[in-house]
Amino acid sequence: MSQIRVRFGPSPTGNLHVGGLRTALYDYLFAKKNKGTYILRIEDTDKARTVPGALDNIVQTLHELGLTSDEGPYWNNGVKVRGDFGPYQQSERLSLYSKHAGELVKNKHAYYCFCTPERLEELRNTQEAAHQPPKYDKHCLKLTPEEVNQKLLNQEKHVVRLNVPADQTITFTDMVHGEISISSNDVDDQVLLKSDGYPTYHLASVVDDHLMKISHVIRGEEWIPSTPKHILLYAAFEWDQPQFAHLPLLLSKSKKKLSKRDGDVAVKDFLKQGYLPEALINFVVFLGWNPKTEQEIFTIDELVEQFSFGKVNKSGAVFDLDKLDWINGMYIRKMDVKELYDKILLFLPEAETKPKSFIYKILELERERLKKLSEIGERVKYFFSDPEYDPKLLIWKKASKENIKRNLSSTYEHIRSQEVSEDSIKKFIEENNLKTGEVLWPLRVALTGMEASPGPFEIMDTFMVLPNGKELILNRINKAISSL
Ligand code: GLU
Repeated sequence: MSQIRVRFGPSPTGNLHVGGLRTALYDYLFAKKNKGTYILRIEDTDKARTVPGALDNIVQTLHELGLTSDEGPYWNNGVKVRGDFGPYQQSERLSLYSKHAGELVKNKHAYYCFCTPERLEELRNTQEAAHQPPKYDKHCLKLTPEEVNQKLLNQEKHVVRLNVPADQTITFTDMVHGEISISSNDVDDQVLLKSDGYPTYHLASVVDDHLMKISHVIRGEEWIPSTPKHILLYAAFEWDQPQFAHLPLLLSKSKKKLSKRDGDVAVKDFLKQGYLPEALINFVVFLGWNPKTEQEIFTIDELVEQFSFGKVNKSGAVFDLDKLDWINGMYIRKMDVKELYDKILLFLPEAETKPKSFIYKILELERERLKKLSEIGERVKYFFSDPEYDPKLLIWKKASKENIKRNLSSTYEHIRSQEVSEDSIKKFIEENNLKTGEVLWPLRVALTGMEASPGPFEIMDTFMVLPNGKELILNRINKAISSL
């Protein structure tokens, strides 16, 4: 088999989003599985839609997720380009596209079109009124060579269009969808070169896929209708065409096409919230791929091993954030506290002012419950500053305020005079014939000020790691008593 070469071809029109990450991941897995090459190609031929900073975001985010390309525009270590097929940014390859467009015109597979926007709009309106699909009417194909030359000499604004032949059936076998056939009568004479000399996506991607020796084109399903145009281009150039794999649409929970409105679909925003790269990879890989086993968590090496297009679904993949939370929680639970500590500092900068042993203990407490790292600050804030009390919260069920106050005072005395331990407090409750809830609930609220938290013994245990732990505990109980 010839060398497997795949490319991820994002347009830098914004930050890398989840859909793009999935394409890049499938490219990466397919390339690694087949000992091939995974290329990053920046498709920036739409000047108006190019967003400053988007290119860096794409390259950097892929890198953070471990999906650095083998070839591509590279920003790190001062190395700009890696690979022998560059430049890997289409805006730096413009002369290649005009040269190839010229070749197509010469061979009559493409033609110059001088139609004005006004004429095109009129045509569209007429077609719309007649309930016909919008399609260019080959008006400029009727120009004689002399007329064309004259117009070119006059520097009339023009584009180059693909000359789509009539009555042909264009068929290809998609690696996900199987055989797809489209009549050439349904294919528009696509603009290949725009009036500003820039290529359209169609020309640029076919020329580059050929010149970069791409063996498999992996991209979103929204490009299926474009593929016949690309196949006609390959035929016109007399080039071998690559294989195609079109990935299923990403759907929101309400089964609509996923859009920015469905929350943070930018990968950078997920990372910012404390989703771990490994968890994101594990989540994204399942958007359209099914390993057909029970296994739910995979290392990247296992994914490389398991991945195949035979296991990619045709139907849309539902983007379910609860699943991502679940996967992220699994990864957090698997981490040892030291590792978690390093990752959490970004989200809990106050941790650096306290002894590591104290933070480790906090992380041990929270590791089981945490879904994303950004939640940590809110969950453990009471360890870092004294809580404010809502007096109502200190009262357990139907107990009276006096009773709670009395219990807190005697608990205070007990803790002050004894060693702080679960056993000794339980014994104290029993010996004094107190109701467990009426002691432990206000004690827990006194320590945290929160409606929900780990239990009072675990929290006191954690405070006791600090040299002034007991004092802190007693102060809080005191403050809670005064708030009642
Ligand atoms: N530039 C296209 C995009 O951003 C890539 C399509 C392709 O891979 O051919 O979706």
